[in-house]
Amino acid sequence: MVISMPRSSKPTTLCSWVSHDRDAARHSRCLPSLPKRVRVPKVPASTQQAKMTPAEFLQLLQPTIHISLHLLFPGLIARVFFGEYWKKAWLIMLATMLVDLDHLLADPIFDPSRCSIGFHVLHSYYAIAGYLAMSFLPQLRIIAIGLLLHMFTDYLDCLWMRCT
Ligand SMILES: [Zn+2]
Repeated sequence: MVISMPRSSKPTTLCSWVSHDRDAARHSRCLPSLPKRVRVPKVPASTQQAKMTPAEFLQLLQPTIHISLHLLFPGLIARVFFGEYWKKAWLIMLATMLVDLDHLLADPIFDPSRCSIGFHVLHSYYAIAGYLAMSFLPQLRIIAIGLLLHMFTDYLDCLWMRCT
């Protein structure tokens, strides 16, 4: 295929740039030339995206902050207080997220407007008192701290819901 520019006039389509060879021109995919003026239709004001208020932005951030606290807060505590065993301590604390299995007993299982603390069995005030008691037993201390951090994070969520 020979590519050459027409001598006489400026190209009007991409085809005129491609080739003068008939077979090549027949098999090539040529694009039509674009019109010089393209009119872009105006979007009606009602369909334009509204600006987000700070409260709406915070509401959007809430699940990200919640999950980050569940995952990273125990990691920070483990790094600061558990020395060389911090990774193991972090993993154990992450495993305490299984406490959320008690949501399966609720109907509906997930309700974003519901406060977990005091509602679910393993998030009840009696359970939290039990976790506090567990923290005095060295063998269960890491698990207890993980559970208490979990409850604290869930409680922050409840406060957030009340404030927004
Ligand atoms: Zn929870």
